[in-house]
Amino acid sequence: MDELAERVRQVRMQVAEAALRSGRSAEDVTIVAVTKTVPIERIALAAELGLRVFGENRVQEAREKVAALRGRLLNWHLIGHLQTNKAARAVELFDLIHSVESTRLAEALERNAAARERVQPVLLEVNVSGEASKEGVSPAELPALAEKIVGLPHLRVQGLMTIAPYTEHPEEVRPVFRRLRELRDMLRERFPRSSWDMLSMGMTNDFQVAIEEGATLVRIGRAIFGERLAGVQ
Ligand SMILES: *Cc1c(COP(=O)(O)O)cnc(C)c1O
Repeated sequence: MDELAERVRQVRMQVAEAALRSGRSAEDVTIVAVTKTVPIERIALAAELGLRVFGENRVQEAREKVAALRGRLLNWHLIGHLQTNKAARAVELFDLIHSVESTRLAEALERNAAARERVQPVLLEVNVSGEASKEGVSPAELPALAEKIVGLPHLRVQGLMTIAPYTEHPEEVRPVFRRLRELRDMLRERFPRSSWDMLSMGMTNDFQVAIEEGATLVRIGRAIFGERLAGVQ
């Protein structure tokens, strides 16, 4: 517990400092504690330290954790790739889905949200860096996807998400974060009736630079819970 508490304290401090550097305060940035591969007992300890928002990559893994920790008033975000055939489960489980990247997926979420008579908050995932291995819509295709999404009554788009290339040198990926913010500003002008306030960007290696560039959600796994087992992304 002490080690976890110390890590959380450290991350909170770094978040607050980076927020100040961008002319904002710590409250403007939400820490999404990424719990893939993290056992339920450790998530419960993190919740006791005051973390409230947790991010999972896989619907199935999240399902068990959400069920086990029900009653603690936690928020669960889906940050990983979502297959269309898991859209129903995703709508059932997640307060925010960061990874909408196609019209087909958006339509599947719309159908399932409508069936449950709820409005599902989502972010659009953008492949800013253009890496072939990355999910996400290309910047060129983003306006068309945005136009589609803002017309779906049971989805509420709230902003954009990106995953920067892995780096030991966060300054290298600053242009990726800056570009996501610029794309967001462009969408704000084009589709002013939707909210584009959220920018989900930054992970353990680069969250401070992401915050300096305007991140409102940082997805942090290892800096809070320690290294994952080798081979687990
Ligand atoms: C695993 C993961 C993270 C957290 O990565 P860390 O390097 O452990 O902070 C953030 N976002 C996504 C999409 C992830 O898959």
